[in-house]
Amino acid sequence: MTNIVLPSDLVFGNEHSFLEFVAQNAYEHKQWLTAALTSNITWQTFPLFDIGSEPSGWLQVHQQEHLNITTALGINGPPDLQTVDLKNEEQFYQWLLLHTAEHQKIEQALGL
Ligand SMILES: [Zn+2]
Repeated sequence: MTNIVLPSDLVFGNEHSFLEFVAQNAYEHKQWLTAALTSNITWQTFPLFDIGSEPSGWLQVHQQEHLNITTALGINGPPDLQTVDLKNEEQFYQWLLLHTAEHQKIEQALGL
């Protein structure tokens, strides 16, 4: 479980693959907590499996959880993963890259 698994058909405008990605992201966040607990490290989590119809709430708590994780692990904080218009194709792909890099950084810190 090293890299975030992006659904192979994850392209801008494909709602189904994006929801799959959202679930995969939430699952990875859960795996990190499980891994960290073995070192007695923990952080506050939020429900991330359901993005809802308006993603701003999800983006906000997702950002907060990323911040909680990096703080707990003592590594550099996350970039801004909250300010994005996911309905803008360019921003959508930039956000995916940024988010994937952040996941890799955390997995490296956890030794995953
Ligand atoms: Zn994430």
